[in-house]
Amino acid sequence: MSPTIKFLGAVGTVTGSRFIVQGKSSKVMIDCGLYQGLKELRLKNWEKFSEDPQSIDAIVISHAHLDHCGYLPKLVREGYDGPIYCTPYTAKLAAIVLRDSAKLQTEDAKYAKKKGFSKHKDPTGLYNAEEAEKAISLFHPIPFHEPFEVAKDVTVTFHRSGHILGSSFVDLTVEGKRVVFTGDIGRGNHMVLTNPDLIPKGAISALVTESTYGDRTHPKTDDSLADAINRTIKRRGNILIPAFAVDRTEIMLMTLKKLIKTKKIPNLPIYVDSPMALSALNHYRDAINSKSPEIRPELFNLSEDPFDPGTLNEATTVEASKAINDIDQPSIIISASGMATGGRVVHHLEHMLPNPNNSVLLVGYQAAGTRGQYLLSGAKTIKMYGKFVDVNAEIVQIEEFSVHADSEELIKWFRSADSTPNCVYAVHGESSSAESFANLIHNKLNWNAQVPKLDQIYELN
Ligand SMILES: [Zn+2]
Repeated sequence: MSPTIKFLGAVGTVTGSRFIVQGKSSKVMIDCGLYQGLKELRLKNWEKFSEDPQSIDAIVISHAHLDHCGYLPKLVREGYDGPIYCTPYTAKLAAIVLRDSAKLQTEDAKYAKKKGFSKHKDPTGLYNAEEAEKAISLFHPIPFHEPFEVAKDVTVTFHRSGHILGSSFVDLTVEGKRVVFTGDIGRGNHMVLTNPDLIPKGAISALVTESTYGDRTHPKTDDSLADAINRTIKRRGNILIPAFAVDRTEIMLMTLKKLIKTKKIPNLPIYVDSPMALSALNHYRDAINSKSPEIRPELFNLSEDPFDPGTLNEATTVEASKAINDIDQPSIIISASGMATGGRVVHHLEHMLPNPNNSVLLVGYQAAGTRGQYLLSGAKTIKMYGKFVDVNAEIVQIEEFSVHADSEELIKWFRSADSTPNCVYAVHGESSSAESFANLIHNKLNWNAQVPKLDQIYELN
């Protein structure tokens, strides 16, 4: 019998990436992501995992975003204790992400208990700090471009995907059948990272591709960010930017620095209020200072910090975070999480949304069911911490900062393959996006492409 692939998540949705490749002698899991967004998806995180965790020989993680690694401590809770392979910077960043996630899970549970708005008598988090630490202790960093046998007859090579620091696409061979998992692929215009590697030569049995923006192309750069900031300053309001702690914060800081230097916006104070974002920022600085091959060479030997326009305030303590509520001149606050599902940004939203002078700039993907998506769709009130908050602030969507390739960029990248994959599976996109992307692949490349079914097993030919 041929080896198989099973799709356990990210089917018809952008979160919960989980795939299993099984050969005669080994079972390997690729990505172990958390479901986020809609309640019916989040509830899936709480279900018992459909595979016995101890039957899995190894887990491979493409990058440090929560929807690709955030389920690891839950599997550890259920008994997984094998190796977790990833690139060196993914190991560092995923450690930050998992610790923060465990903290949020525990805090939310405690808060719900204290305020009595949980339906459960004694709410607990999905996992705790101890389980996150156990998962982190299983990380096994493997450098880029070096084939490594992760389990018997299963070899994995990481290639750069230019999406966030440490991000990879995973080139896996199981008993002679090759599967390429895109993870998330960058756009080739990242301000910090070098472009995604091309697809290495050779026959491909299956290509498992993200389709986050599979039904869209990104707009060209425009002035909407500077315009929104200047409008808010005129009203003497503050600007809140919910941003994914890893990578988006770095991109926003570099962009704001550029806007200030070119005098498109005034030199206003910028606060980064997310301990996780600040730790991640230090890894980006470290990668630049150590001249990592993941970094664009033009950032080496700069005379100043590329992330600080001179007005950067790093709010490391809770006191510094609370003090931001009292700032008396127009300022920009960057805080996580990016879809406002948790973290300090929720407190800032609670404080800032009722004031029509303020603005909230949404600069990243907002999954269905998240507060970010409700704001985007024009909600007049938003629920947080068990109560409703009025939305009077200006809500602006800024699309140019996506770090996901759009449909045309992905198709262009696919053309770097020197052979036709036997099958392409479109995952990690809302249903409509995944379906239209599969059609586009078929029409443009004449490749066999489909949207896999959840929990279904496919043979690798
Ligand atoms: Zn990602």
